[in-house]
Amino acid sequence: MGFTAGQYLFTTYLSYRQYQVLKKPSPPKELDNVITQETFKKTQEYGRAKAKFGFFTSFFSFVQNVAILKYDLLPKMFGLAGKFLAAYGHSKWFSGLTAQSIVFLLGFQFVETIISLPLSLYSDFVIEERFGFNKQTIGLFFTDLVKSEILKIVIGAPLIAAILKIIDYFGDQFFFYLWLFMVGFQVVAIAVFPTLIQPLFNKLSPLEDGELKTSVENLAKRVQFPLNKLYVIDGSKRSSHSNAYFYGLPWSKQIVIFDTLIEKSTVDEVTAVLAHEIGHWALSHTTKMLLVAQAHLFAIFALFSAFIRNQSLYNSFGFFSSSSQYPILVGFILFGDILQPLESLLSFAMNLMSRSFEFQADDYAVNLNYGPELSKSLIGIHTENLSNVDADWLYSSYHHSHPILPERLKALRLATEAIQKKKH
Ligand SMILES: [Zn+2]
Repeated sequence: MGFTAGQYLFTTYLSYRQYQVLKKPSPPKELDNVITQETFKKTQEYGRAKAKFGFFTSFFSFVQNVAILKYDLLPKMFGLAGKFLAAYGHSKWFSGLTAQSIVFLLGFQFVETIISLPLSLYSDFVIEERFGFNKQTIGLFFTDLVKSEILKIVIGAPLIAAILKIIDYFGDQFFFYLWLFMVGFQVVAIAVFPTLIQPLFNKLSPLEDGELKTSVENLAKRVQFPLNKLYVIDGSKRSSHSNAYFYGLPWSKQIVIFDTLIEKSTVDEVTAVLAHEIGHWALSHTTKMLLVAQAHLFAIFALFSAFIRNQSLYNSFGFFSSSSQYPILVGFILFGDILQPLESLLSFAMNLMSRSFEFQADDYAVNLNYGPELSKSLIGIHTENLSNVDADWLYSSYHHSHPILPERLKALRLATEAIQKKKH
């Protein structure tokens, strides 16, 4: 309860600080002749609208979490899952504690999705709509929802079963093997996501021959980026926010550009954005991030092995068992709650690393002579998306994986000037 309340108070305090920044009448100095007063006003309005909604949703989920703890809703749901199985699931291969854990977790997540449904609808169809970003229909919203719920069952159930099996089989040494399994699972997921999962939600079509394709291919050749295919994604189906990214295994990469980005930018600007993205690859940022994430996962599993058989952990959250057989999956969820303060501290560190990577990737693009174009396209993307261009430092340290626009523009300007000086 203390951790839950502490987390809520801390993040609400940060949002309050950020809200004061969102009330400022003029942009940071660096943006003086960069964005118009009118655009700035609109970004502030959009920011405040989202922040107000954020105050409400975080209060809502705080109340929900307290209720779950206070009324022992987890053990109650777990019992219900058992009853459900006893009534409907008479099968040899789907029974016992593992089956009950799977039904419990999927059921619990399903209930949470339903409860938060009005909030998601409000966010997409009221707030995003009001600022002209929502491009999806109610029909598409619900088809997406049904698809992702089915995916959760199809992928989630076997995954949980495998995890529980590994813990069962390897006993106290489970954490190393579980970690290995999860690393393997992630590699497979990265490999099959674009071909098996992504097409369920979006259409990727090869970028047509033309100026943009030639420009990106030349860039890839110049820096020896193993570009395999170039795609355009129909992001405009849902939202008019724009973006670009790449994915794939080390020897074969695919670049995906949002149709919305192509529509609103020049060829050089899109290429500049990709120069930044390729910078992440050239400087091994993706690999470094992946390694940190794996180390994090390993630490969590290793710590969990100290809690896994701790009966008082289960008992104090309302789980009792006559056979001293406790559902490990539930233990992991409870353990997650205990870990929360540590995870919050970690977000500071992770975001600090991520922001420094962003500066480095910008620098990389500058060295390829894309400095001015990158600045232009960043301004364009921020203006189109009405992204916040100012932030409270503490809020930013905790939440932002990217530096805010004025910080990036300043760094880009200084780096470009430094290069020009070298030339003279
Ligand atoms: Zn980046």
